Amino acid sequence: MQLHQENNRSVSGQSTINYAHYHCGTYALGPGYRSVLWVQGCPRNCAGCISKKWAEEKVANEASPQELAYLLLQDPQITGITISGGEPLLQATQLIELVCECRKHKDVDLICYTGFTFEEIVSDQTHPERAQFLQYLDVLIDGPYKEELDDERGLRGSSNQRVIFLTNRLKEYEFEANSRKVEISKEGVEELLMVGLPSKSINEFLAKRLKDFQ
Ligand code: SF4
Repeated sequence: MQLHQENNRSVSGQSTINYAHYHCGTYALGPGYRSVLWVQGCPRNCAGCISKKWAEEKVANEASPQELAYLLLQDPQITGITISGGEPLLQATQLIELVCECRKHKDVDLICYTGFTFEEIVSDQTHPERAQFLQYLDVLIDGPYKEELDDERGLRGSSNQRVIFLTNRLKEYEFEANSRKVEISKEGVEELLMVGLPSKSINEFLAKRLKDFQ
């Protein structure tokens, strides 16, 4: 699973993050008021993936960790950051830089989704930076999305995925039992952004409403 994102370096030698989108300010993807970063590129091709466009292995938007930290923390009310994708761990080195940069300015909590399992990450000798990245996270939601195991519960996509508390910081928050919520925000003139994990009924409702608008 080699992707071009690994060890992204610009001509100037500064590292860059290849990201699909970011959103500053949501209550839909974890406790508190959060920013979300969706990285670009994932090789898994899970059936039912809700971010197929962002899983495409291509360069989408590029920014340095410093630039992205600024964008993610631009609202002073932000208390945490959720990183999703795409597959975040393919850019673990750059994401470590991002997290360090964010925490220089604010002690935000961190949640990260990955299609790798925890065991795969910590036993991977060829990519030690992935296990290193875990040291910065409060919660890891691990494993590939399996549509047939999507029980519409909480912040994990399917029941094979685990909410792993890597620190005690977010332990009080109910990640699995809460019902799902999504927020729709208008991005630019023509685009709508859905933040959160939709239930099937929300997905169907949105698909119908979008058809009505076409
Ligand atoms: S791991 Fe996530 S982003 Fe990648 S294909 Fe599966 S659902 Fe989509």
